Amino acid sequence: MKSRKLLMIPGPIEFEPSVLRAMGEETTSHVAGNFIESFGNAIDLMKKVWLSPLGQPFIVAGSGTLAMDMAAANLIELNDNALVISTGYFGDRFRNILERYGANVTYLEAAVGEVVSLETIEKELRSKTYKLVTITHVDTSTGVLVDPKPIAELAKKYNALSILDGVCSVAGEEIKQDEWGLDIVLTASQKAVGVPPGLALLVASQKAIDIWKNRKSPVQNYYADWSNWLPIMQAYEKRQPSYFGTPPVNLIRALETSLEIINAEGIENRIFKHKKLASAFREAIKSIGLHIIPINDTMTANTLSAIYYPENIDGGTFLKKVYENDIILAGGLLPEIKLKYFRVGHMGSLSSNDLISVLSAIEKALAELNYNFEIGKSLKTFQGLI
Ligand code: PMP
Repeated sequence: MKSRKLLMIPGPIEFEPSVLRAMGEETTSHVAGNFIESFGNAIDLMKKVWLSPLGQPFIVAGSGTLAMDMAAANLIELNDNALVISTGYFGDRFRNILERYGANVTYLEAAVGEVVSLETIEKELRSKTYKLVTITHVDTSTGVLVDPKPIAELAKKYNALSILDGVCSVAGEEIKQDEWGLDIVLTASQKAVGVPPGLALLVASQKAIDIWKNRKSPVQNYYADWSNWLPIMQAYEKRQPSYFGTPPVNLIRALETSLEIINAEGIENRIFKHKKLASAFREAIKSIGLHIIPINDTMTANTLSAIYYPENIDGGTFLKKVYENDIILAGGLLPEIKLKYFRVGHMGSLSSNDLISVLSAIEKALAELNYNFEIGKSLKTFQGLI
């Protein structure tokens, strides 16, 4: 595939050949012995990758938004208070979903590139009884990373559930679900988990399951209702056939394959690799005078970079030139600055060579657009750090 372009957006990403081969295997019955084993194994592996031996995994056909929807639908009852901590576009999405199920949402929004302070969060939690708190671990629209651990501790202190939108972080940023006391950690297959789009993935704590079990009103979403899915997950985990909605057989085989790869590498090694490549990439970008959205390193994601275009460079023309050099990058997403920045995904089975190709394409495009910088500087910086 010599003319293939390198897909470096923040999901979907480049996938391992063995994962893609699993997608192409002959589709088996969802109650066939080999598939039951794969499904059960994928459930076991999720607990390992999420570092949640006590959690309850859910694997359901859908995208990350369904995982958010599932968390909200099962946990929210009419007029429950929910606290949304937002660092960009996806905080806003969580607010919309929670409100759809009748929650009274308080929305704490950080300035662009920043996080909401713990003091602000605690003050709000003290002010009334919250059913749950949502945190976007990495907001894919800003590249801002939030430290979920102290927020989960605060949620626990004030008796609220903590829900982590880990769509752009699970398997790419450090998460210790059980140790940190996170009640829900959710993601989608197409990001750092490394599987083509189509799976909503979620791990729930026993506390979250108990709160759902003790609901007074029925779940207001038929497809997402855990009453339908919990028995299925429990059956496959016990290596027994079960049916509610036909599972996406090939995607689940691909999930098993990718989680095996992640687990074999070791989740800690995997996170370390993301950190190392991301920090070298950031330094490289800065060395040619470009600026990223997050205001400091502790608030910066390791799974993607959100980078401002230099003054007087047209974003559309820049991205087109990068594309002509066989690299696919993403434009901006946050409405207020959408045309001012671009995004580079660097998660999953990424290698330093991929980022060298990205830097080279960025430099070439900038040079053609007459941006003034030392050609080769970002590549030199990156290679010096890697
Ligand atoms: N949350 C975050 C942080 C995301 O990055 C995304 C997808 N970019 C979503 C939620 C929604 O996921 P999906 O597009 O798979 O529905």
